[in-house]
Amino acid sequence: MFAYLLGLALGAAPATAAAQTAATTAPPAGTWVVSDVTVIPADTDEVWMHRTVVIRDGKIARIFPQGTKAKVNNATVVDGRGKFLVPGFVDAHLHIATEGAIRDSKDAAIAGLDLGQEHRYDRQIMLRFLKAGVTGAANLGGSAGSDEDLLRLRGEIDAGRIDGPKLYVGKRINGPRAAVAIKPTQPAPASKPESPSTAADGIAAVRRARERGYDFIKPYQFLNRETYRAIVEESARRGLITTGHLPELGCASCADRAFVFAHPMTNIAHSEELARFARVEHDLSPDDVERLADAVSASGMSVTPTLVTLKTIVDMYVHRQVPAVPGDWAASVDPVTRLDWVPPANRYLSRAFREQDGADTFSAGYDFARVLTRALWKRGVPLTVGTDAALPGLAFGVSVQQEMIELGEIGLKPVEVLRAASINAHRLFDPQAGSGAVREGQNANLVLLEADPLADIQNVSKIAGVFAQGRWLPMAEIDRKLAQGEAFERELEQQIRRRKHAAH
Ligand SMILES: [Zn+2]
Repeated sequence: MFAYLLGLALGAAPATAAAQTAATTAPPAGTWVVSDVTVIPADTDEVWMHRTVVIRDGKIARIFPQGTKAKVNNATVVDGRGKFLVPGFVDAHLHIATEGAIRDSKDAAIAGLDLGQEHRYDRQIMLRFLKAGVTGAANLGGSAGSDEDLLRLRGEIDAGRIDGPKLYVGKRINGPRAAVAIKPTQPAPASKPESPSTAADGIAAVRRARERGYDFIKPYQFLNRETYRAIVEESARRGLITTGHLPELGCASCADRAFVFAHPMTNIAHSEELARFARVEHDLSPDDVERLADAVSASGMSVTPTLVTLKTIVDMYVHRQVPAVPGDWAASVDPVTRLDWVPPANRYLSRAFREQDGADTFSAGYDFARVLTRALWKRGVPLTVGTDAALPGLAFGVSVQQEMIELGEIGLKPVEVLRAASINAHRLFDPQAGSGAVREGQNANLVLLEADPLADIQNVSKIAGVFAQGRWLPMAEIDRKLAQGEAFERELEQQIRRRKHAAH
């Protein structure tokens, strides 16, 4: 740490109200100066070359032209020459496997695994997000223990005790599948807040989630009309955004299309949800693309396309194997997640999956979703980058880069992809916390890239380091911390292997 001379006496500048608030909720994160860097703010098409960026107490304190005389006390300097500073990426749709999920598991291969001390397992997962430039992650629901674990982790990361992305923890609310089954073979189970099929229980579920400290609500597919509407409306009243699946079509208590667009969620969690609607009613007719895109646009909903998710599922369906994880990320998949990727746990490789009704439309569904996503983009519907990791084939962290490339392939300009991966996600999950742009006063969730992402969006994988909630982690330090956890992961793998032996 040393004073970095830039002329302005920033060290003596009064702390802003926001910085004081940050200081009371988290330990001071320190001061960094990124020198002579190209800034891509992402909320504009502008690019600012040769800038000095001061990060202090979790915020972007100053951005000014290189060479401006300023003095920053006690700053660590990060050499930005030849590098590009962009907003940190957000995975707007994932399912984080945590220690809590492992404790909840009824799978004999997993239940009761010795996870050791100091949350080693969770720490490794969180570090891998940072390694990929992912400084924000929205979890769209998991087991009760996993959700509890994430709510705890969220606080540990915010306080700077664990390195990781800003977590947004969603509560999944789903009705009993039988209650909306098109041909019910048994009477619908009684409604309860854990599985509501009445408006009152839907409202109770939202209130409980709010009390537990969840960040948002994920309505799921098997909610009947009145329950779906009650959840969406109660969430809005309680200041919780909704991002989820579209309700089932075609049964007596189900919604129809007009109902869904008249009672919109904040965001649709997959473009595949819209493709499902198109499949049910119009057999994926290309004419339906424009109708659906118009309806989404008019409803005000935003969309997380998760194209890479659909691509990966189609790949498993067609090739009957899990597609390769890019680069050297395959080694980053932890041994517990890996178990879910192989049969019989991987249902996408099962005969039942291949032979289900409508399987012949899977491949066309991906094409439909791409064309539809392009139509949404053309209408200015805000898109976010989500991946559904760790679905088989999609590793935490790197899957975000894969989805960014998917969005580039359907026509988004690189800066629009960056916007989808950052600003649009902040607007969706945490608008009070700022825009997510690289601008003075914004939270310092940033990625320093070795190469220009506007020249080639694939350059988002060339990461020199990240600022995660104002703390600088160069790639070498992330790698060093990950290496510290590798012995733990090898031991976990051994435990799983010994169990397999014992079972045979
Ligand atoms: Zn999901």
